[in-house]
Amino acid sequence: MRTIVWFRGKDLRIADHAPLTDAARAGEVIPLFVLDPYFFAKDRAKTLPNRIQFLLSSLRSLEKNVAAKGSRLIVVEGRATEVIPRLAAQWHADKVVAHRWVEPFARTRDDRVKAALRVPFELYEGETLLPPGTLRTGAGKPYAVFSQFAKSFTKTAIVDDALPAPKSLPALPADVRADEVPIPTMESLGLTENPAVQLGGERTAHERLVRFLERAANAYANDRNRMDLEGTSRLSADLKFGTLSPRQVWNQAKAKVTDDTSARAYLNELLWREFAHSTLWDRPELLTEPFQPRFKAFPWVQDDAAWHAWCEGTTGYPIMDAAARQLLGAGFVHNRARMIAASFLTKHLLIDYRRGEAHYMRYLTDGDWAQNNAGWQWSAGCGCDAQPYFRIFNPVTQGETFDPDGEYVRRWVPELAKLPAKFIHKPWEAPADVLRAAGVSLGKSYPRPIVDHKESRERFLSVAKQHLQAPVEGHDRLENQPT
Ligand SMILES: Cc1cc2nc3c(=O)[nH]c(=O)nc-3n(C[C@H](O)[C@H](O)[C@H](O)COP(=O)(O)OP(=O)(O)OC[C@H]3O[C@@H](n4cnc5c(N)ncnc54)[C@H](O)[C@@H]3O)c2cc1C
Repeated sequence: MRTIVWFRGKDLRIADHAPLTDAARAGEVIPLFVLDPYFFAKDRAKTLPNRIQFLLSSLRSLEKNVAAKGSRLIVVEGRATEVIPRLAAQWHADKVVAHRWVEPFARTRDDRVKAALRVPFELYEGETLLPPGTLRTGAGKPYAVFSQFAKSFTKTAIVDDALPAPKSLPALPADVRADEVPIPTMESLGLTENPAVQLGGERTAHERLVRFLERAANAYANDRNRMDLEGTSRLSADLKFGTLSPRQVWNQAKAKVTDDTSARAYLNELLWREFAHSTLWDRPELLTEPFQPRFKAFPWVQDDAAWHAWCEGTTGYPIMDAAARQLLGAGFVHNRARMIAASFLTKHLLIDYRRGEAHYMRYLTDGDWAQNNAGWQWSAGCGCDAQPYFRIFNPVTQGETFDPDGEYVRRWVPELAKLPAKFIHKPWEAPADVLRAAGVSLGKSYPRPIVDHKESRERFLSVAKQHLQAPVEGHDRLENQPT
């Protein structure tokens, strides 16, 4: 049996990689990565620089790990839909195996590959703990409420042990030749390396997991919302690119987090990930449309000045500006800051959540179609089990609660670093002498708020009520009605 193991950018590891393990047991293995212009063309790569950086470092690590086991990762360029069937025929492969992706465009790609192949194409599960679409309500429908999804998961799911890395891999068959190319560098793609972006690779991922379990996991329940602390695992990019599998993380957390509340809270977040993937699997249209039909023609505004201030971190709300600059600077945003920033864009500024979603996809290292879409739709109030539209975060109290000393703001908005904690989330309330002593000149060194919290909150509520009350075919009441 000769198997092509097609690594596809979401499974960049050799441990707990069932397609690789099975292929190695069955006979000859050809590990393959295709640099598809869909991601790697220069024009495309520059729209996702941080993800490309993480992916390239993970790919280099995969190349080393495969070589250390006695084989070799073949890297070629071209459209996967053309390259895979061609190489499978040329190499006389008996089958092609890969991990399944949930995104609609990936499903189309896989259908095309399958149709063009003359040998079987086997897609393995493993991107999620359970195959997406497994859990169903009593009526056989996909879950639309997270707590019920999580309950059903806890009741029925069995998460198997993760597979170890194969002890060795068979050497690449001698007749296997291709127009191989080296793994690109950031420079070759016209990009500049950002030292603040996390390092990829399987080994680094495991070190990150161990560090989290040893240092922060047992305080996760308390610290996970604190933007000023390193209270979360920072494994999102590893899960996205598969330098760790979800069941490696799930099983390790279950086994090693001794504080029950923290263990539950952490596993619950992994279930939000699961829910997002399962929801996108069942409802592929969500990448372009809101889950709630009433939001389809929502009167979002086109306010370019506000949009640029939100993107660049010059809204005059320190917590918002810290979140925007963390994204641009480090390719990451703390979850609480993502929620506050997304709420502000969609509610205070009334800007379409899809613009924010696309901006996040451009810069997030962990940018993931399912989770990012779910996060944005949740924040805008239009998603599956979303935050009710009438809950609008107050940027000042959110900052004061989850960044109490202002350390997160000080780090990302250095022009406010010398302000006392009392005013760091609302510099416009600081007396003139306090501002002067901190070297802050409102409107000059740091902007005044671009909108008033109370007014913009009322504007959103009025627009939303008016729009959402209008009857929509098949839906005759206001969704998420306050009780
Ligand atoms: C507007 C918005 C956009 C988001 N975009 C993404 C995205 O593109 N990619 C992404 O991985 N996450 C996204 N999230 C979810 C969450 O913010 C990140 O997963 C988290 O901040 C990553 O940090 P961490 O690994 O330290 O998380 P931890 O708190 O350590 O959580 C562990 C893991 O659980 C998963 N997870 C945690 N929170 C969520 C959540 N709310 N929804 C789904 N999965 C979750 C992640 O895989 C994460 O790595 C988004 C959230 C919002 C509100």
